[in-house]
Amino acid sequence: MYLRCSDERCATKLELHQRALACPRCGNLLEVAAGPLMFSPEVLKELWWNRRCSRDPRDRSGVWRFREFLPDYPPRDIVTMGEGNVPLVPGIKSADWAGLSNIRFKHLGWNPTACFKDLGMTVGVTEARFQGAQTVACASTGNTAGSMAAYAARAGMTARVYLPAGAVSPNKVAQALDYGAEIVEVEGSFDEALATVLREAGPEIYFLNSINPFRLEGQKTVMFELQEELGWHSPDYIVVPGGNLGNTAAFGKALYELKSAGLIDKVPRMVVVQAEGANPLVRTWREGSDELLAVKEPRTAATAIRIGAPVSWKKALKALRFTNGLAIDVTDDEIAEAKSVIGRDGIGCEPASATTLAGARKLAREGTIARDASVVAILTGHVLKDTDYITRSRYTAAVRASAEVQAD
Ligand SMILES: *Cc1c(COP(=O)(O)O)cnc(C)c1O
Ligand SMILES: [Zn+2]
Repeated sequence: MYLRCSDERCATKLELHQRALACPRCGNLLEVAAGPLMFSPEVLKELWWNRRCSRDPRDRSGVWRFREFLPDYPPRDIVTMGEGNVPLVPGIKSADWAGLSNIRFKHLGWNPTACFKDLGMTVGVTEARFQGAQTVACASTGNTAGSMAAYAARAGMTARVYLPAGAVSPNKVAQALDYGAEIVEVEGSFDEALATVLREAGPEIYFLNSINPFRLEGQKTVMFELQEELGWHSPDYIVVPGGNLGNTAAFGKALYELKSAGLIDKVPRMVVVQAEGANPLVRTWREGSDELLAVKEPRTAATAIRIGAPVSWKKALKALRFTNGLAIDVTDDEIAEAKSVIGRDGIGCEPASATTLAGARKLAREGTIARDASVVAILTGHVLKDTDYITRSRYTAAVRASAEVQAD
């Protein structure tokens, strides 16, 4: 395996284990590239399935189980907490609400630190340890911080997190503190926090935002696990929230690799959903622009996706083109309503995740998604990640409603 510039026209190659975050020739993001695959699809499917019965910690991880598609490490270097292996849960009230007969939730919030970032961090922190790093750093809207801090703690490393002041759910700050992270507050939005960490991170620090190509390799395995659960029959649509667009990029890469290896026949269409007030990819996609149409002051109550200038936007466009996908946005009211419906299904999620159901409903209503299409919505974070959001919006409404009943 090696690192490669993600722009095909440049195609610069670099050695795998090094700190470069961008192509030294053209400045585009890097990606991990694999050599030729040594196994047939049938052999791989059986190997991965049988690992579910193994006691090897790598086999018990929903990420490392698929290690034929990941960078290779000595087993003792791997930092894992059995991440992945999350269920696919059918929506019931959610399906009715969206006007769909078959919508299922892949709940990545049911991971060790309650969001999907763990899937990337197990690989990112393993790579950091492999390179001998003592300190890891990231900018975060909260979840990356918690996840990085947990995996760094497991690896005996220092975690330093840069958070936009006042724009992170207290639950997430508490989590990062509990795992022992050093916290730096930055005035401004996530985008400013990211610029700060990039400016301040010296050679002694290993950088773990989703610019980091190793993180995306871990996140990629969501598509492997999902396809395996579906018997290697792709759904029609995969709907994913779009923030910094790491997931979109990782899932697009995964689907490309799965198709190329003959593991799947059909590529599902990927739908990326952003909040209306933080919709740079939607604008860029809609205009067919070659430049990112960034949002200067991103606004949404879904703080995990309050990002105006997503770093992985080019990779995300590539993923949309490859999957014949779509980018759409939804309002904060639609997100709130979708979130409460997912809650009523006994599932629950954080606001950013609920963009998926809101987006699926929007597309079903306009007839883009047929009623009987198979749809998988990716839920990215756990309901307990942002309890303020719930108590602020719904608890007050519930209390008011019951007070009105009593007054009658
Ligand atoms: C990080 C995060 C996102 C955004 O994911 P990207 O890969 O940056 O697009 C969405 N939802 C939750 C809960 C997150 O933590
Ligand atoms: Zn390049």
